[in-house]
Amino acid sequence: MNRPPAGNDTIAAIATAPGAGGVGIVRLSGPRALEIARVLAGREALPRRALRAVFADAAGEPIDDGIVLAFPGPHSFTGEDVAELQAHGSPVLLRRLVERCCELGARPARPGEFSERAFLNGKLDLVQAEAIADLIAAADLRAARAARRSLEGVFSRRIESVAATLLRLRIHVEAAIDFVDEPIETLGIGQVRADLARLGDDLRILLAEAERGRRLRDGLHAVLLGPPNAGKSSLLNALAGDARAIVADIAGTTRDVLRETVRIDGLELELSDTAGLREGGDAIEREGMRRAHAELQRADVALLVLDARDPQAGRAALEQASAGVPARLWILNKADLADAAARPAAADEVRVSALTGAGLDALHAVLRNLASGGAPEAAEGEFSARTRQVEGLRATLDHAMAAAAELSAERMELAAEELRLAHQALGRITGQTSADELLGHIFSSFCIGK
Ligand code: GDP
Repeated sequence: MNRPPAGNDTIAAIATAPGAGGVGIVRLSGPRALEIARVLAGREALPRRALRAVFADAAGEPIDDGIVLAFPGPHSFTGEDVAELQAHGSPVLLRRLVERCCELGARPARPGEFSERAFLNGKLDLVQAEAIADLIAAADLRAARAARRSLEGVFSRRIESVAATLLRLRIHVEAAIDFVDEPIETLGIGQVRADLARLGDDLRILLAEAERGRRLRDGLHAVLLGPPNAGKSSLLNALAGDARAIVADIAGTTRDVLRETVRIDGLELELSDTAGLREGGDAIEREGMRRAHAELQRADVALLVLDARDPQAGRAALEQASAGVPARLWILNKADLADAAARPAAADEVRVSALTGAGLDALHAVLRNLASGGAPEAAEGEFSARTRQVEGLRATLDHAMAAAAELSAERMELAAEELRLAHQALGRITGQTSADELLGHIFSSFCIGK
């Protein structure tokens, strides 16, 4: 594996969340971690055994008392010598402990530096390291479980299996180029093409699963759109229901676009209640329209709200406005006022009443289905993914398909080059072939102490 060596200095940071708590943990990693812990505690901790100790300053004055844990490398999280000091969860004391560690030869860790060292020492690949941050930030149990599976290597192993096939195909294509006149044992080109087609199928399945994993992490972005008074705000409130407690207002909320993040049954929905789309209007209305269009640009699904009493009114305008959105769902609201028998709902329609709550369960079910990409709830083996990883898989698939086209045209050199690019794009996902600036970008978004 082509990775730069990990740092040879010792880092220290508070690993527990900021603020006061029952217990706080200071973590050390690097060649002097165990020695610093020994000086602080006045005694040597046995590997992986809790040692009760008083942490003292240079004058022997106690800072706090607590527990020391020693994890000698390479059997530690970072692969280096690691020590953990568990103390009382006072931010003042914990900061003093880090300071004391630095007096003894450590330096403060940068955000994500522990995970970065674990990656650089080959303890984790990049997908697993990113899964740690996603696990910590997971908004619900389903997202947390998915992140855990990525951390355990479920996603990484799938990528490695594709990489192994790609490598095998590359070898055969390169051999066919180099030994064109020699009767050596290579797969026939027909076989390589068949294997490549199968690889394309595998990649498409993996891509769809990664897309679902990304949506689990990022949430489904739904925009609520409809003519004034159709009941969009009422619907948003009804959908939020008990989730209100965790509804977060996003900075930048204006009276034109009210944005709230609502979690329903473990799925994150961003609902944008946009002002009715009208042509013309004054400067403020035009700004409202511009925002509504911007919301639609990044939407995964448009929830188009109409009045069930007159479901044609405003329909054409909504159809036009939501033309580019990947999925659309018509919601006929105010069903309590309409005569249901007069017009049964079509396949892509849900009849609801924000007022009485009728039909909301069915709407939840449809939204859940959209968010999970049609997969059964909490699918077995579900893993978390990031946009970066999804894009990497897409690039891999594009190059693999380009390679198949070159093979069909018997342009072997070009096919070999496309296979190389596919392999490289795949390697970037797990960090086997990653540029330094990419690594810096990823780890700097982590919390300190992780
Ligand atoms: P918006 O402009 O689309 O956000 O619409 P509002 O949510 O402000 O609702 C407009 C009016 O319709 C309000 O007076 C609501 O109380 C009423 N309304 C909304 N949903 C329903 C419903 O399902 N049934 C009935 N009867 N009234 C509703």
